[in-house]
Amino acid sequence: MGGGPAGLRAAEVAALGGALVIVFEQKPSVGRKFLVAGKGGLNLTHEASVDEFARHYTVAEMDSDSALALWRILLRGFDANALRLWAGSLGIETFCASSGRVYPMEMKSAPLLRRWVERLRGLGVEFRMRQRWTGLRSEKGLELEFSGASDEAGDSEVQVVRAGAAVLALGGASWPQTGSTGIWSSILGGLGVKIAPLMASNCGWECSWPQDVIERCEGRPLKNVRVSTGGECVRGELLVTRYGLEGGALYALGAALRAHPRPTLSIDFKPDSSPESLLARLGSARHNFLEEAALRWRLGETVNCLLKGLLRDSPPESAEAMVRAVKHCEIRLEKSRPVEEAISSAGGVRFEELDESLMVRNLPGVFVAGEMLAWDAPTGGYLLQGCFSTGTCAGEGALHWTTNR
Ligand SMILES: Cc1cc2nc3c(=O)[nH]c(=O)nc-3n(C[C@H](O)[C@H](O)[C@H](O)COP(=O)(O)OP(=O)(O)OC[C@H]3O[C@@H](n4cnc5c(N)ncnc54)[C@H](O)[C@@H]3O)c2cc1C
Repeated sequence: MGGGPAGLRAAEVAALGGALVIVFEQKPSVGRKFLVAGKGGLNLTHEASVDEFARHYTVAEMDSDSALALWRILLRGFDANALRLWAGSLGIETFCASSGRVYPMEMKSAPLLRRWVERLRGLGVEFRMRQRWTGLRSEKGLELEFSGASDEAGDSEVQVVRAGAAVLALGGASWPQTGSTGIWSSILGGLGVKIAPLMASNCGWECSWPQDVIERCEGRPLKNVRVSTGGECVRGELLVTRYGLEGGALYALGAALRAHPRPTLSIDFKPDSSPESLLARLGSARHNFLEEAALRWRLGETVNCLLKGLLRDSPPESAEAMVRAVKHCEIRLEKSRPVEEAISSAGGVRFEELDESLMVRNLPGVFVAGEMLAWDAPTGGYLLQGCFSTGTCAGEGALHWTTNR
């Protein structure tokens, strides 16, 4: 159930293995979030070895070594290379940018999705749209319940479908207009499945900027900065927004930020310069440190304006204080932006509920894949790769379950 990348991949694997597959999707068409991802160029995956790739995933309630071991297995089943070959088999060539991010040549998802759906239809996969999964019974075989879903009229009559196995790939809770509402969590929770709360991930954070920072810096990037919080540190880019900050560097620190109710972000605006070299370049300056630093350190307009706004009430009174301000600029974050706006959500079905084929132990024949599982990863292609890898695993599991019974 669910026509996102994880569900479609599970359907493909099961259909290739000879299973009779039906995709149930509550929206009038499949892959709506996948199409949204295409607006940003569709970062399909990342070029990295399985070991390096696996380090980017965190799993709720799991230590980092166990998460690494789990993701090594999942990725070995369908890794970045396999994903690129798969896209190629649909006639979609990919390229790797200097950042390691992999995109389709056309930087769009629509052509890929169209050919993928055509292939699935060719494999005999049936698509039932506007069908909302509302529950299941597993006492006497697997019985799945659906309501005819229409945005205008709400749910209509309930139908029950018997199945040999089911893959739930209903997405997280971000961008609910694409169909990923996270409502499944109360249905599965009601069936006794443990679920880590769905939270915004890869999202902006709010802070209180002085008015002149908003007026002069809103929409401007802070390039090549090093940001840290709670012992985690990454290098990348931030974007100043009206409400606070966005950007890849912030997204990569998501798990560390969420660990604190009001986290503090420390920004190093000059990550390639040591404090000593900055001090030396300030030379004979004895006052107007902000102006002197802007000039002698080539701070750039946005950094300069940001520091002026933040330090207006207590400007640095020594060269050392100025160096501290630029190497450890501390920003108190208030809260993350709402999950509805986030690129993805953390939380979901806990892995302790599942066996190695991603089947819910207490619901035999029911498998889970994609963002509805309790893993999290930064942007960079790790999200879609995670959906494809877990979709492959769940699809294989469901196929094996139905053919060996
Ligand atoms: C703006 C944006 C840009 C992104 N860009 C990238 C990117 O470049 N690279 C990347 O790796 N990731 C990106 N992502 C994240 C990526 O798109 C998601 O992680 C991925 O789509 C999740 O796939 P999924 O199959 O798990 O779920 P989804 O794609 O969310 O699909 C779930 C499907 O299940 C359906 N559904 C839900 N509940 C029910 C129900 N009860 N009954 C029937 N159907 C149901 C939904 O309608 C939906 O079609 C982006 C996300 C956003 C929002």
